[in-house]
Amino acid sequence: MQLLAADMGPGLVAALGAIVGLLIGSFLNVVIYRVPRMMERQWAAECAELNGAPAAPAEKFNLLTPRSRCSRCGHLIRWYENIPLLSYAFLRGKCSACRAPYGIRYPLVEAVTGGLFFFCAWRWGGTMTALAWCGFSAALLALAVIDWDTTLLPDDMTLPLLWAGLIAAALQWNPAVDLTSALWGAVGGYLSLWGVYWAFKLATGKDGMGYGDFKLFAALGAWFGWTALVPMILMASVIGAAVGIAMKFSSGLREGGYVPFGPFLAGAGFTAMVFGPQSILRFAGL
Ligand SMILES: [Zn+2]
Repeated sequence: MQLLAADMGPGLVAALGAIVGLLIGSFLNVVIYRVPRMMERQWAAECAELNGAPAAPAEKFNLLTPRSRCSRCGHLIRWYENIPLLSYAFLRGKCSACRAPYGIRYPLVEAVTGGLFFFCAWRWGGTMTALAWCGFSAALLALAVIDWDTTLLPDDMTLPLLWAGLIAAALQWNPAVDLTSALWGAVGGYLSLWGVYWAFKLATGKDGMGYGDFKLFAALGAWFGWTALVPMILMASVIGAAVGIAMKFSSGLREGGYVPFGPFLAGAGFTAMVFGPQSILRFAGL
């Protein structure tokens, strides 16, 4: 389905995609920072309720309120200090009030989102297919960074991504897979990692993954179909092992030595989107 005028040049569509991507990337920074904190607040409130503690009057905290502030001095971020990439460059990555450095993370997430949307708009033009893959990219990027930061993969994001994959297949916004393949991809994705988890747990007594990983892989199965499951898990495992070993040697391994698997699943998902799911086998020489 065509969204933009069909005679709009592909360069213009791609440029539009990049601009929208930069803005969405700015929003993803908020999602990445706030969603885990919103979950923690909810858990704390539920624990307090179970313990019969009087409900603490919680101030509103969601994706829209309160407005973004400098985490050091509380300086309210004004709209012109929040323009993707440009504000970061202009302020040289520092708070305009207290000069505390903002992480390079913020412009990086914006730039990567802009790049992914540029790719989708260039590859699929002004169509529902492009829009669907833009949504896929945004959700997958946010999940990867949240998992890396917190080892959480929120259900509020993995499950909608899964449903969106099934819907995109059913409506043929994602013409590469049919609904049957997407459905079995989701089922197979979940069950395969669930099986690995239990085999590993029974053999070693340890948790190798979390349930969020099963749901994320189920979502990838819904977007790429069941035939992509084996290539994607190979890809994710290879990247994961390489990064794990590199971190071990650079003694960058975090407390407990746990490296989350979600970012590598996401890496496999992006590779599959850009180069096609079977390309992963070609990379590996299979
Ligand atoms: Zn500040």
